[in-house]
Amino acid sequence: MKRNLQIKELFLKNFDKPVTELKFKNLYELIVCVMLSAQCTDKRVNLITPDLFKAYPDIKSLANANLASLKSYIQSCSFFNNKAQNLIKMAKAVCENFDGEIPLNEKDLKSLAGVGQKTAHVVLIEWCGANFMAVDTHVFRVSHRLNLSKAKTPEATEEDLTRIFKDNLNYLHQAMVLFGRYTCKAKKPLCKECFLNHLCTSKDKEI
Ligand code: SF4
Repeated sequence: MKRNLQIKELFLKNFDKPVTELKFKNLYELIVCVMLSAQCTDKRVNLITPDLFKAYPDIKSLANANLASLKSYIQSCSFFNNKAQNLIKMAKAVCENFDGEIPLNEKDLKSLAGVGQKTAHVVLIEWCGANFMAVDTHVFRVSHRLNLSKAKTPEATEEDLTRIFKDNLNYLHQAMVLFGRYTCKAKKPLCKECFLNHLCTSKDKEI
């Protein structure tokens, strides 16, 4: 079996239909969680959102939020100034352009403030099980250590992974996030217990 296919099958075998660690109850909460999680940990976002969603329980209340008040709820999140502005702009655009319904296609999602390709893909992966890859810091590191991509940007890495894996991309995305977060960590990867050890030739591999 080809090496890349072996890697794909081992990810799918070791992570049984994995889902995000972000906590959300509906699509509105999901998009807010994903926007907050950019360059921030899921753990931190999960600490912020219970009070945030009590104060702003739906897209309309977020669209009408006072900027300073919103910032006070998310100030422990990285880049909270920009994120607060984008959250309000995103919510206003959903209310004005999409009748208050968060759109579920890539083009319309990407038209919203603060929603780039990665955020749009993660929303579609988590809400619809869409066959998309999304590349965050974990997926980027894991892809390069496993020599699945040599690309310099997340976008080009996403293209490589999409071309190599083709299907089950939603599960593979989430598996690679969790694998990078808990096993193939940036510092001191847990190579001894890694199920891909025999396929890995990374210079970062701990012997
Ligand atoms: S062997 Fe180590 S560096 Fe290689 S994929 Fe596994 S955890 Fe990452």
